[in-house]
Amino acid sequence: MGFTIAIDGPAAAGKGTLSKAVAAHFGFAHLDTGLLYRAVGAKTLLGAEPIEAAQELVAEDLDVDGLRTPDVAQAASRVAVIAEVRAALVDFQRAFGARAGGAVLDGRDIGTVICPDAAVKLFVTASAEVRAERRYLELSAKGDPSTRDEVLADVQARDARDMERVEAPLKPADDAVLIDTSDLSIDEAVAKAIAAIQAHTL
Ligand code: C5P
Repeated sequence: MGFTIAIDGPAAAGKGTLSKAVAAHFGFAHLDTGLLYRAVGAKTLLGAEPIEAAQELVAEDLDVDGLRTPDVAQAASRVAVIAEVRAALVDFQRAFGARAGGAVLDGRDIGTVICPDAAVKLFVTASAEVRAERRYLELSAKGDPSTRDEVLADVQARDARDMERVEAPLKPADDAVLIDTSDLSIDEAVAKAIAAIQAHTL
């Protein structure tokens, strides 16, 4: 069994940046599990049936362009409420978590459902306004025409769907360390995450 770090939290809380930095620091592999749901969501936008799309997902589907758009994010959170979609994606994520040499998985239900025995669990959060502003700056830098208000509405809609769903709702595991990044720089947040992981492994 490898050393697994679970990083969960709402959209645009900084999980991706933190997870990559933590994985690089410890020399672990990293899986952004949101990409699995985004890949399934993207297929449904092209007319696929969500459960079939999840069951037939292959690694190459995660490499396609266009998975980071707001439309695909919403489609991802819509397919993510379907129990059979989630079930189809469990084995791949657990196998990744158990890989020798250590793994960091980030998502919504890693510490609660996918890897409940993870060595360390972090729950990364920030206010909806801060998260929306970060996502807005990211999207506008890429030329996306979404306004601030649209991005905030998107983040809030996704939060509601992710937290209120019956299957694996977004919530911190009982033993998760909470990191609120609202008032932290990226470097400060990374330092906090690394310190929390070291504190748990000493
Ligand atoms: O993390 P990201 O924003 O890429 O995730 C897209 C959507 O996929 C989320 O809003 C959520 O609905 C879903 N998701 C999930 N469980 C995960 C990762 C993502 O339900 N472990």
